[in-house]
Amino acid sequence: MKMNRVQFQPGLSLPEFYRQFGTEEQCAEALEQARWPEGFRCPHGQSTAYYLLRGRPRKTFQCAACRRQTSLIAGNLFQNTQLSLTLWFLAIYLVSEAKTGLSALALKRQLGVSYPTAWLLHHKLMQAMSERDALYTLRGTVPVDEAYLGGERTGGKAGRGSENKMPFVAAVSMDHKNHPTFVKFSPVPGFTLTAIAAWAKDNLIPGGSVISEGLDGFRAVTKAGCSHQAFVVGGKKPKERPEFHWVNTVLGNLKTSLAGTYHAFDFNKYGARYLAEAAYRFNRRFRLDTLPLRLWVAPIACPPHTETGIRGQAEEYCSSGKN
Ligand SMILES: [Zn+2]
Repeated sequence: MKMNRVQFQPGLSLPEFYRQFGTEEQCAEALEQARWPEGFRCPHGQSTAYYLLRGRPRKTFQCAACRRQTSLIAGNLFQNTQLSLTLWFLAIYLVSEAKTGLSALALKRQLGVSYPTAWLLHHKLMQAMSERDALYTLRGTVPVDEAYLGGERTGGKAGRGSENKMPFVAAVSMDHKNHPTFVKFSPVPGFTLTAIAAWAKDNLIPGGSVISEGLDGFRAVTKAGCSHQAFVVGGKKPKERPEFHWVNTVLGNLKTSLAGTYHAFDFNKYGARYLAEAAYRFNRRFRLDTLPLRLWVAPIACPPHTETGIRGQAEEYCSSGKN
């Protein structure tokens, strides 16, 4: 892959976005299309016959068979939202068009909403991306590396202490032409044999071959039916070996993205979502023009999340801003 193929592909322009998704009706139509491509289907009994209920704030279907009511936004990430769909869609557009991610503060400014609203929108969208990509597993040759969010490798500030440092596995699935097809950044409790065995079972398709820089824990990928090849020192430093080009590249991109876009945040609490967002972006890098269109497939497939669930128990740590 040449990077310029990615940089010069056409995205969805802002005027074109407004032309397609500028009104509440257009957004509702797009949601309905994404949710029920072949027409309404009752979530309770799969019946396709329905009546439309009039006078509801959101389009609401009543199943002709079981008579239960289903709103367009029930049962997915948009459930119970007080925000307009046009605002949601614009947020999705902005988040997906930003090449290296977008902070909640930038989103707040661009959407004209409060910071807590922008933060919650952003985290809900990241959660949807995370759940979407969690469905995929890595196959073929898979170079891996151990990394830390909040540590030196992702540009965390020095002196923040190891308690705000989250270990994760960076892994890239390579196809038979040695092109990267899919990236995963997976938080792990550590790099022990037990932790890596659990990671491997969740993320690798048996039969794959994992290559690492010799960290002992990665031997455990054999527990998931994969082979393991370790490059331990030698003439070149492992990081300079071509086998690790892509895993190093995606880690480098991640570092740039986090350093340039986001405030310091509680890595242990929210790190997984930021990692998932970066991986999601990479995994769809060749199709930027349709990225927003696929981004609202993810919120529709995503179950509802309450604000409390998204925020966790405490408020986000937010340092003085540069965005
Ligand atoms: Zn029904």
